[in-house]
Amino acid sequence: MDLTTIKEMIRIIPDFPKAGISFKDITTVIKDGVALKYIIDEMAERCSDRKIDIIAGPEARSFIIGAPLAYRLGVGFVPIRKPGKLPAETIKREYQLEYGTDAMELHKDAIKPGQNVLIVDDLLATGGTIITAVKLVEELGGNVTGLMFLIELTELGGRRTLSDYDVVSLIQYP
Ligand code: IMP
Repeated sequence: MDLTTIKEMIRIIPDFPKAGISFKDITTVIKDGVALKYIIDEMAERCSDRKIDIIAGPEARSFIIGAPLAYRLGVGFVPIRKPGKLPAETIKREYQLEYGTDAMELHKDAIKPGQNVLIVDDLLATGGTIITAVKLVEELGGNVTGLMFLIELTELGGRRTLSDYDVVSLIQYP
């Protein structure tokens, strides 16, 4: 297994969820046990030189990657969720979508001040989702030690939005 093979396994769906979007479907990767193990091991390898106390990731695809990566690194995982899903006391941030706004929440006790947090997601596009996750983690006093993605859409400028952070992606598309 290698990253070229993983890239070939990603299914591209034209015009999903709307016209003009070329959707990168990772379900074709994660249903394959060898491929799933490979991407998690590869991410763990790229984290080996940093101090990570806990992993956080935004709903929902990050959970599929973040939880096994946390297990592999021997740390915990905290979910960042859409409003109303987390049962205990939360903090909340709104963010801009192309049309309108959305919001994400994090349990107030999810992260202790000073903890080193790796934030994980399946895909980096404009960076709007992940910068919101970063702000939630920082509001609780977490130290964002890195941002890890399976896929990066390089021409959408996410890295510029996240220029203060260490961004790692395994697979890139223009
Ligand atoms: P951003 O906020 O513009 O960086 O968009 C990233 C978010 O949108 C991530 O949470 C992704 O899960 C989701 N996303 C955007 N485009 C795709 C895609 O082509 N495939 C899978 N998820 C996508």
